[in-house]
Amino acid sequence: VNTLSFPQKELAEAVARAGRSDAYRGRLPSNVDESSFERVPFTTKDDLRAAYPFGLLAVPQSEIATYHESSGTTGKPISSYFSNADWEDIHTRFNRNGVALSPNDLVLVKTPYALVTTAHQMHGAALRAGASVVPADNRSHNMPYARVLRLLRDLPITVAWCMPTEALLWAYAANRLKIDLAAVKLRAFVVAGEALSPAKKNRISRLWSGRRVFEDYGSTETGSLAGECVRGRVHLWSDRVHFELRDPETLEPARGNRGELVVTPLFRQAMPLVRYRMEDEVELDHAPCDCGSASPSVRVLGRNGSAHRIGEREVNSLELDDAIYSAAEECGLWFWRGRKRNDALEVEIHAEHPRLAERFVSQRVRDRLGIPVSIRSVGGEAFVPESLFRAEAPMQKPRFLFGENEEFKSLDYA
Ligand SMILES: [Zn+2]
Repeated sequence: VNTLSFPQKELAEAVARAGRSDAYRGRLPSNVDESSFERVPFTTKDDLRAAYPFGLLAVPQSEIATYHESSGTTGKPISSYFSNADWEDIHTRFNRNGVALSPNDLVLVKTPYALVTTAHQMHGAALRAGASVVPADNRSHNMPYARVLRLLRDLPITVAWCMPTEALLWAYAANRLKIDLAAVKLRAFVVAGEALSPAKKNRISRLWSGRRVFEDYGSTETGSLAGECVRGRVHLWSDRVHFELRDPETLEPARGNRGELVVTPLFRQAMPLVRYRMEDEVELDHAPCDCGSASPSVRVLGRNGSAHRIGEREVNSLELDDAIYSAAEECGLWFWRGRKRNDALEVEIHAEHPRLAERFVSQRVRDRLGIPVSIRSVGGEAFVPESLFRAEAPMQKPRFLFGENEEFKSLDYA
């Protein structure tokens, strides 16, 4: 089942480049082949933390184009850095996404620019495709949903790059602010940053009058690793990155088509990574695709170890998400959240038709997952603070001289 190819020449070169960094020096075989590669140690997120900031640097520092950090949940940051050639590699593979950006596109970049790569990946890729960019950044005080919706309504924005949940939140905000989504020019979303269930993806598309939602999969450390084709499958960029599918416990090759993805970018210059563990559980599909891509496609199932045992069963967020949103059309479901309590699942939802939603959602969860569940409807403000719908806050600058009757303001001007 696991028929990922072994690109001998490119891997040998990638491993040789990696050996120039302090972190890998002396730890890698020279002129690697399939059997010696199998003995190369895996690289973990902890290894990257230990290498902070420049332990993985394999070129003179002057060749770095951009420096990034990923937002780890633990204290120490994970650095990543890219040369201009690295960015060209990432932008060109990212641009294979089925959204097919062209000079006719105006792209709303609505992911963070601060340190992580996500916004820079789309920003650079869109410019490379000849498209224009609206650099809107992540949700912030300066960018409440009212402002996002104004941009979508007043500008001919054709593509939006965001997390899937953002697309849902904007639809919710439009509903609250009585803005007609059918009238905005947007043709598609490109989304990343969260595992997305088919039912939630479908819900987003329906709320946006059938607009396409294309997925991308990647990370700040690696850039894009896979993107969705016109046929709806998320293909690995396996001519640019060497992929292995491993059992997350034993790290042996996975027996079936599920496991942890381990990646070795083939052309990385500034920060080569060898056998980097993504720590995501994925499922690969090797069946041929009508789009013509020969690469397998990937479905991201979630973080390793993020499931909770309820009754006899490990419950992961994604399968629950799929079960719950499968009832969304009948009851106008917007949001859910759940937790384990007394060995049952307790779920709060917000829906247009609360009573119907409680009935449908509990039925779907019981049918699909076979676990005891209690459902409670709550108001929308439990999920989305009202302040996010308010009119735009003007951009503030630091001020030092005030008028006669004005109150002093602090320098907290963000
Ligand atoms: Zn395809």
